[in-house]
Amino acid sequence: MNKMKLLTKAPRGTQDTLPSESHKWQFIENLALDTARLYGFREIRVPTFEHTELFKRSVGDTTDVVQKEMFTFEDRGGRSLSLRPEGTAGTVRAALENGLLGDALPVKLSYVVSCFRNERPQAGRFKEFHQFGVEMFGAAAPGADAEVIGVANDIFEQLGIQNLELQINSIGCPECRAKYQQALKDYFSAHLGTLCGTCEERLEKNPMRLLDCKVPECAEIAKDAPVILDYICNDCRKHFELTKVNLQAMGIAFVVNPRIVRGLDYYTRTVFEFVSNDLGAQSTVCGGGRYDGLVETLGGKPTPALGFAMGLERLLMILDKQGIELPSPQSCDLYIASIGEEAALKAAQLTSLLRKEGFFVEFDTVGRSLKAQMKYADKLGAKLSMVIGDDEVSSCKAKLKDMGDGETKEVEFKDLPEAVYQKHLKDLADEVTDEEIQF
Ligand code: ATP
Ligand code: MG
Repeated sequence: MNKMKLLTKAPRGTQDTLPSESHKWQFIENLALDTARLYGFREIRVPTFEHTELFKRSVGDTTDVVQKEMFTFEDRGGRSLSLRPEGTAGTVRAALENGLLGDALPVKLSYVVSCFRNERPQAGRFKEFHQFGVEMFGAAAPGADAEVIGVANDIFEQLGIQNLELQINSIGCPECRAKYQQALKDYFSAHLGTLCGTCEERLEKNPMRLLDCKVPECAEIAKDAPVILDYICNDCRKHFELTKVNLQAMGIAFVVNPRIVRGLDYYTRTVFEFVSNDLGAQSTVCGGGRYDGLVETLGGKPTPALGFAMGLERLLMILDKQGIELPSPQSCDLYIASIGEEAALKAAQLTSLLRKEGFFVEFDTVGRSLKAQMKYADKLGAKLSMVIGDDEVSSCKAKLKDMGDGETKEVEFKDLPEAVYQKHLKDLADEVTDEEIQF
């Protein structure tokens, strides 16, 4: 690509969010954070990059994310830093560094973050993407697992998303996992030679990663591998059963999928995914689970913890696919056109006053003809318009035109805020009668 082209082309795997789309992002981010707030989660904001070691320790140094997907660079002092590939590691680090886990437990945190993974871009898979996530610290009981799942479920329900399946599994604790890992080693060892290079390398150190491999030959072999649910200990089994009972009590439908293991090393016990048919190959829109060992791994006191991350690009894809429209932002309430210098100044003054009252008002800042100003008002979709000339300036009143039905009425400038507000109320009332109200 020549150098000039580079100036007008975003890097592959990144996306611009244009004004025509940004309201959707604002809406889902607010909905997610507000929903989580009802469950007691409060927002945390963490840095875009961290020490590489943090991700190696938490996500795991035999995972795809760490081995293949991180954007890693050195600062001037030669320290290795990485753009965050996910939000949990930074959140746990921040909670520990700032002493948040010393407060009354549980501590509940939520976030919206951009994440970076050097993956091959395709539908639903980008190099820069966004996650909404929650993390809960200090709660070991199965009710917490159901509560965290409940946040995600609640968000999907409020958006009216159909055909999402919640799949859950338990991947046990370090004790029961040891036996399972041995069983996996035995099973996969019989297939050495057919497995991909990465899987062969990981077999000794982290055989559970083989269950997650996307190479078709490996996936085929993994299909018949032993399942963890046959190996989990009594405590883990009881925890899993009670998680299910809690989900049922909350009216949340789920299926058990004993093959979910998740791609990050820090998980223990409950893991879950929300899966949609509307996403093609990248079918998981939200994934999470328990990570009871992570806080201690990162230097804190042993603290049970759990959370999830929801991919916002994939969420928007589902909304689009299912034709779910999100409320569009407020459109222009009033356009004030003007003829002549004095009138232009008046238009500027009235605009400024009305904006202070919370109305979306525009006037001519280009120096256009009256005809061109009115054309622009139309294009803006202004609900009301008004033309000011010398006569209007001296009489302090002007005709206010409803751009919908063309009706006009004379309004004194001092009564403008009230008139714009009345139009606003009328539009709201029309909206309500347009919708069929059913009880
Ligand atoms: P996948 O199996 O699709 O690669 P993952 O297991 O790597 O997903 P997680 O690390 O669990 O994903 O991240 C949680 C969520 O973040 C995913 O369910 C997905 O919605 C989103 N996500 C992950 N990677 C990407 C990506 N490269 N582009 C867009 N969204 C992503
Ligand atoms: Mg991945």
